[in-house]
Amino acid sequence: MSHRIVVALGGNALGKNLEEQYLAVRETAEAIVDLIAAGNQVILAHGNGPQVGMIQKAMAELTRSDPEMYIPCPLSVCVAMSQGYIGYDLQNALREALFTRRIPKPVSTVLTQVEVDPADPAFLHPTKPIGAFMTKAEAEQLIVQRGYEVIEDAGRGYRRVVASPMPRAIIELETVRTLMEAGQVVIACGGGGIPVFRKDGYILKDAAAVIDKDFAAELLAESLEADLLIILTAVEKVAIRYRQPGETWLTELTPEEAEAYAKAGEFAPGSMLPKVEAAIRFARSAPGRTALITQLQKASAGIHGETGTRIAQRL
Ligand code: ADP
Ligand code: MG
Repeated sequence: MSHRIVVALGGNALGKNLEEQYLAVRETAEAIVDLIAAGNQVILAHGNGPQVGMIQKAMAELTRSDPEMYIPCPLSVCVAMSQGYIGYDLQNALREALFTRRIPKPVSTVLTQVEVDPADPAFLHPTKPIGAFMTKAEAEQLIVQRGYEVIEDAGRGYRRVVASPMPRAIIELETVRTLMEAGQVVIACGGGGIPVFRKDGYILKDAAAVIDKDFAAELLAESLEADLLIILTAVEKVAIRYRQPGETWLTELTPEEAEAYAKAGEFAPGSMLPKVEAAIRFARSAPGRTALITQLQKASAGIHGETGTRIAQRL
């Protein structure tokens, strides 16, 4: 049976620096092409943590070295750069892997903006530290000059924090859909997408925020009416009592069971919790939709029910 699958790639699918990424995308591409070769329609979303960190650091150095010439680079621009950089490596690795297996499919990367709600409660409590550590003086300057919110991070220095609002709509959805329907392999929603507010209906204004890539991938899957959301990460399955006595790996869960474990604090916020929450949301969005959380190398086995953790309504 063939599926329409949105695959969310985690940090380990992309590596942490230029060299690692160049190598990691090769293995990632093989796993993705396995899914395509089996007859599935695949759309890719991905994270960007280390990449956007690298870009922000480079841009901050530039401002520091020549403040007359370079104003601080907005987060939205850094995310856009990361989508381009990751898309470039991933797209080419996929292209090569497809060509090698004689699958004539073009690959494209869509620069993706994702609408967020200015009334999202996340904006009242920014939680996501981004960018480099700063001194107190540097932090105070940015608070005054640019209205940044800054936290003191456990004695290690000061860091900017931004909100992590929920994604509401994918601005370039119809572009992604058109490419997908034309048989292309599409990479979209990189780094959760560039968060934007909608002004006067059609004007977009960048939001100082980051969207969780797991939630953006879920929205993409729902919006494209995918039947499978696969979240690929560093673990083969989700566990309860993770890394504690009595650790138990989960295979099959209903959204209600997953929610009960989430409420009980079984999944770490910022890592496994958003994946499980995204999986619950997708499984509930329509009957017959399944979310699978597993490791990159296990994606194909996971589709056949051989491994991974699947969340789906019991029919
Ligand atoms: P990604 O880059 O794929 O989003 P994250 O580091 O954000 O990866 O999240 C995956 C990590 O979540 C796993 O590598 C694992 O260490 C951690 N984790 C936290 N809680 C759990 C749990 N209950 N079961 C499995 N993994 C968990
Ligand atoms: Mg993560």
